[in-house]
Amino acid sequence: MLVERLTLSGQFLALSRFEPQLFNQPIEFVLANGVTVNISSPGVIQFTPASTSLKDIVLSCGVHGNETAPIEICDDLVSQILRLELSPQHRLLVIFANLPSMDIEKRFVEENLNRLFSGAHFSSASEQNLERQRAKELEQAVANFYTQGNESAQRLHYDLHTAIRASKNDKFAVYPFLHGKQHSLEQLAFLYACGVNTFLLSESPTTTFSYYSSRQFGAHAFTVELGKVQRFGENDMSKFVAVKETLTALIANKELKLPEFSPQKCFIYRVNQVINKHQADFKLHFDSDTPNFTDFEKGHLLASETGAQYRCEFDNEAIVFPNENVAIGQRALLTVVATKI
Ligand SMILES: [Zn+2]
Repeated sequence: MLVERLTLSGQFLALSRFEPQLFNQPIEFVLANGVTVNISSPGVIQFTPASTSLKDIVLSCGVHGNETAPIEICDDLVSQILRLELSPQHRLLVIFANLPSMDIEKRFVEENLNRLFSGAHFSSASEQNLERQRAKELEQAVANFYTQGNESAQRLHYDLHTAIRASKNDKFAVYPFLHGKQHSLEQLAFLYACGVNTFLLSESPTTTFSYYSSRQFGAHAFTVELGKVQRFGENDMSKFVAVKETLTALIANKELKLPEFSPQKCFIYRVNQVINKHQADFKLHFDSDTPNFTDFEKGHLLASETGAQYRCEFDNEAIVFPNENVAIGQRALLTVVATKI
């Protein structure tokens, strides 16, 4: 039966991808170590330890289906928990977000899921698609998870990605706009222990998954970029040892030996320009393999389209997430400049 298949094999992700009908009805069962497992839909699994939980942790991956390394990391963590090799000491929700896009090895099927949160999925019936339905479902899963937790629990959400292109700074995190709240140095130290040394402070609301958890539930939430996209099975997992060990320690409530956060060891940027594509002829003026965080001088032409040119406004203004192939109206490029925290 299903519970035995899950606990013997640990293969929740594989069953979610290839036999999703198994999870059409919510399922609940208890592991031998007292941890309650709830599966609310394919790819969404919650673990609740018997003891009181001080942290409510959301780990999400596969918001972009071809970003395989975080999917493999989360798959392994879930498998270890189901097979009793890892015992979560905090409430934990693991989300494998865009299952159909994993099958086609694409970022998404019809629409970028990470532009559909905070209600952006709302649409007329004619615009309905899998990603919009999934965004709504995932919002609900996160809302249920946090609101059913202990009110004093610390809320965390790490949304794990890999970038399309190489980066001068291999691992980096986007800190959502906090609407005036203080940035958490403890969280930056945690991410640093995961191997992240570059932080990008967002300064405006957005429709990403991490902003949703941050804004709606006051979670410490981050979009974490762990390296470059590779196919399933082709990731050099040695590059992910630090992040996996640190996440494992967090889940198991092992002592995290976090060094005090040291800004000198890190690169901290703020977003300067959000450049959206308005015309079909939108074009980037640098090579397609230019790494993220490559910087240019003030006045340098970064992109153009009919009726507009986009230039650096500062010396050492750097590019992040360039993609001229986005749909019209979507973000084609961010620029960032160094800042202090
Ligand atoms: Zn991504």
